[in-house]
Amino acid sequence: MGTNKATSVNGNLKPHAFFQGAVVPMDEAKVSVTTHALHYGTAVFEGIRGNWNEEQGKMFIFRMREHYERLIRGCKILLLDIPYTSEQLCEITVDLVTRNGHQSDIYIRPLAYKSAEVVANLKLQELASDFTLVTVPFGNYLGTDILRCCTSSWRRVDDNMIPTQIKSAGIYVNSMLAKTEATLAGFDEAIILNQDGHVSEGSGENVFMVSGGKLHTPSLEDNALPGITRDTIIQLAQDELGLEVVERSIDRSELYLCDEIFLSGTAAHLTPVVELDCRNIGDGEPGSVSTSLQKMYFDIVAGRNSKYLHWCTEVTPQTVPA
Ligand code: PMP
Repeated sequence: MGTNKATSVNGNLKPHAFFQGAVVPMDEAKVSVTTHALHYGTAVFEGIRGNWNEEQGKMFIFRMREHYERLIRGCKILLLDIPYTSEQLCEITVDLVTRNGHQSDIYIRPLAYKSAEVVANLKLQELASDFTLVTVPFGNYLGTDILRCCTSSWRRVDDNMIPTQIKSAGIYVNSMLAKTEATLAGFDEAIILNQDGHVSEGSGENVFMVSGGKLHTPSLEDNALPGITRDTIIQLAQDELGLEVVERSIDRSELYLCDEIFLSGTAAHLTPVVELDCRNIGDGEPGSVSTSLQKMYFDIVAGRNSKYLHWCTEVTPQTVPA
């Protein structure tokens, strides 16, 4: 993800951003070094995917409204006062995606942030807020189709330290410490426990485990983010595979002994974990529940399953400058 450039694949079009209430060329969307969010992580963001459907020549944005509803919940908690409803944010996004003309998978990154140019003030109620949005080409976030994970030595923050149900920018220091530790040690991703030692989530993904013929995932009380992909997987497992889904506290050793583990997230999609702490999960290959759910998920997010088209917003990219 670190190498994304905000360049359009359509050579005729210069990338634009939504910034300070208007669509502007990307290179004009700049903030001051005194911007509050830059110093304190006072922002909430979303990661939304646009999935390019080559046959139809269309972009399918997945569960956009639910992402903006989570952003607005974050704004409420952090007293980020932005003048848009989730419907208006969806319209702004469709406009920008159309205009940027991408013809490949993209990441859509909205950010509501404390835009006040004030260095030393910790009173959220006194700080002005704004909203910005960029879209960038985005491929395989994890860089691999199967994961070798470790249990992080870092613990997931607790909801009464920094709220865990929203995507506040500052909380990602916790995720980055875990992800950095895991990748420097040669693993692909970290699985993070909460303060009680229960499984919470990955650095940017929710965790699922198949055991005893059921699908299990940590409950939100264990400080997992209420992931939109998590919710998608729960519905598909129940409705399409007839699986019982159990949301509960999960112990570390249960993961070692289960049949399958996979991670879910907008960036990560649904990716099987084949090894944890140097132990094979199941037989060390992606399991059948993971692969069936993954196949279904990939079809749905790219608008190839008519039953779930209501989760997708179709956008036809413009091909010549407006
Ligand atoms: N947990 C964390 C910490 C995340 O950053 C993400 C990615 N947003 C997820 C879980 C998965 O959430 P979603 O499926 O909504 O992308």
